[in-house]
Amino acid sequence: MGLPGSVVWDSALLGYDLGGEHPLHPIRLDLTMRLAATLGVLDGVELLVPQEATDAEIERIHDAGYLAAVREAPMAGWDVGHGLGTSDNPVFDNMHEASARVVGSSLLAARQIASGATKRAVGIAGGLHHAMRDHAHGFCVYNDLAVAISWLLDNGYERIAYLDTDVHHGDGVQAAFYDDPRVLTISLHQNPLTLFPGTGFADETGGPNAPGSAVNVPLPPNTGDGAWLRAFHAVVPSLLAEFRPQLLVSQCGVDTHHEDPLASLSLSVDGHRAIYRTVRTLAEQYAGGNWLAAGGGGYALLRVVPRSWTHLIATVLDRDVAAGTTLPSEWTRFVDKIAPTAELPLTMSDGRSVDFEPWDGEDGERVDSVIKEVRRAVFPLHGLDPDDPRD
Ligand SMILES: [Zn+2]
Repeated sequence: MGLPGSVVWDSALLGYDLGGEHPLHPIRLDLTMRLAATLGVLDGVELLVPQEATDAEIERIHDAGYLAAVREAPMAGWDVGHGLGTSDNPVFDNMHEASARVVGSSLLAARQIASGATKRAVGIAGGLHHAMRDHAHGFCVYNDLAVAISWLLDNGYERIAYLDTDVHHGDGVQAAFYDDPRVLTISLHQNPLTLFPGTGFADETGGPNAPGSAVNVPLPPNTGDGAWLRAFHAVVPSLLAEFRPQLLVSQCGVDTHHEDPLASLSLSVDGHRAIYRTVRTLAEQYAGGNWLAAGGGGYALLRVVPRSWTHLIATVLDRDVAAGTTLPSEWTRFVDKIAPTAELPLTMSDGRSVDFEPWDGEDGERVDSVIKEVRRAVFPLHGLDPDDPRD
């Protein structure tokens, strides 16, 4: 029997390297693929090798003038504009080519699903959700998932749900489809008053032609696994049941982890694993089983990202890794070689419970004020009752 999912990967994707001390270091991708392989998750899996996306493909979302600036930036010296050459988005060699390959990764995943070759596809290099039409933003040059969604809309899909569980607001994808009723974007993130990019409030609900097509769940700092999952379940399944997407696209940033150096939510690897399993179930229930998964943020490079995204890949392939699985010594020895002072965890778990009490319509927990605010902002636009927990 074939596997339920495909994995897109090529070591050339490590070329998206913002250099030096930049937090988005490609080692996180390399260590993830090594850990997944060492645990046997990739046994018998033929990795699909992406090409660089063409200009025409990237220009589905981005301005031609911006592409020209990205292409020329490594030769241009300073002041190239378009958000390039900043500390967040430094210019690097082959920036266009490396960024186009990330777009190619998510496009290949989309094509695999659209062709019927697979129901699910995952590419952890994708998920650069902040990139805007004419500028780089938040470590992101080209918006691979927006390009993939745009391509899908021209290739047989009329209703696509985008689910963003990165700690930062999925602003670039939201902006690309804010007034498009064919795309429902849902982002759960740390409250934008306390974190980049400063958008993603509950009252951002879509443009005049697409009321309710954007959903934002701004969670207070220190939100942990239980409260995060309580909010997710109080908002997301109802909207998917009503919207009936043909495909679920998920950005799976893991900078929600309590050890992440750039943000202040308090999830665990166990919470991440629970999220992926939930998203898989929702794809089966409401999206015909079609699930395109990408990576995203995540800056605890050694201790968190490889474990969390190995769980992601395993979940896509129905090869779930038990939380208590010991980290293989072959992998920890490799990490020790490149980072001798790192203290590595022992297992694929942080030992946290992911139990939570479902929201019951009352104000029982701190996160419930956010749940009510979000539901009241957006549920009526979908014909749902914001105050009835059965909706
Ligand atoms: Zn992020």
